[in-house]
Amino acid sequence: MQASNRISNILGGGSDGWDVFNRARAMIADGVAVTELTIGEHDIRTAAPILQDMHRAALSGHTGYASIPGTPALRDAIAARVTARTGVPTTRDNVMITPGGQSALYAAHFATLNPGDRALYIDPFYATYPGTLRGVSADPVAIPAHPEQAFQPNAADIAAQAAGAKTLLINSPNNPTGVVYSRATLDGIAQVCKDHDLWLISDEVYDTQVWEGAHISPRALPGMEGRTLVVGSMSKSHAMTGSRIGWVLGPVDMVDHLINLATHTTYGVPGFIQDAARFALDQGTAFEDDIAAPFRRRRAIAQKVLAGQNAVALVPAQGAMYLMLDVRSTGMSGEGFANALLDAEQIAVMPGESFGAAAAGHIRVAMTVEDTRFEQALRALCTFAERQT
Ligand code: PMP
Repeated sequence: MQASNRISNILGGGSDGWDVFNRARAMIADGVAVTELTIGEHDIRTAAPILQDMHRAALSGHTGYASIPGTPALRDAIAARVTARTGVPTTRDNVMITPGGQSALYAAHFATLNPGDRALYIDPFYATYPGTLRGVSADPVAIPAHPEQAFQPNAADIAAQAAGAKTLLINSPNNPTGVVYSRATLDGIAQVCKDHDLWLISDEVYDTQVWEGAHISPRALPGMEGRTLVVGSMSKSHAMTGSRIGWVLGPVDMVDHLINLATHTTYGVPGFIQDAARFALDQGTAFEDDIAAPFRRRRAIAQKVLAGQNAVALVPAQGAMYLMLDVRSTGMSGEGFANALLDAEQIAVMPGESFGAAAAGHIRVAMTVEDTRFEQALRALCTFAERQT
């Protein structure tokens, strides 16, 4: 029996970019001490008070089917947070709760694209993006952001591909580059969306991890509220990756459609997890700053270590839990570098090529191990790079 073309095509044929990661995991299974700087998972667990609240909510009976769009209390808390952070008046009717940002990305594209529609996204990209677009039977079109422009997307490049497109997917703070889109970049993007009647899907799951500049939600830019769907998540901001809780935020009529989709797919998110998410949001920004603090510290460590060498170049590390390093001076591809580094130093990083052609010759370093070990690994990485030049 055959699977559908749609599901068979999710991976699109090529390498899925996880070879180095899989090799590192196999080495660890064989007892090798590998320093893993690969995936975006905090080195802390979900905070005990959040888990205690989850436990309390479950014991108090919130274990049946929960409200499908999300509990009014959680939707209100997210709406209030978005209103406060962006100045755009937002109510619970603009918010639908999803099982994580990943499912929000799928829902947002499912809601805006017909089969075969042109769907734009920026390269380098979060690894699942093309698969998500293929998964809704769209025609994914990557638009490169260039290292020479510090990976800020260029409005003219987007406009050149926009004819016939329906959506544009962006992500700031960015995974994998660590770049935060500037006001000028976002103004340019907003203009292209208005000129070409595009939906903008804005993945803002790293919005609490900004080290330089400010996070601007493009939904707040003039004329954008009616054409922007924002993807949010508790995974990164509250170290709740395993709880699978996020949201899509947008115009009320679109949220109504999304609720129909949820009714026929996920049927909502567990009530006790929603209650714990509400509790977590109520802890305020100081709590979120504490979750982000280790990455802020390690970024400073990296800037210090990298200042003392010339073999690798740091892409402006403005946000998110990653560093992007340009290793082209070694003459190696990102993939070649990552594989050789794993063999020589037992340090696992992601090849830039895993995130698109625009990140070729780069590696992504997740700042997800404890400070001393992180510093040692970076020093070893630099010494390794120097040996290759
Ligand atoms: N968007 C980006 C850019 C991400 O890096 C991730 C997770 N790594 C997600 C969305 C999805 O996160 P989650 O489903 O855990 O909310």
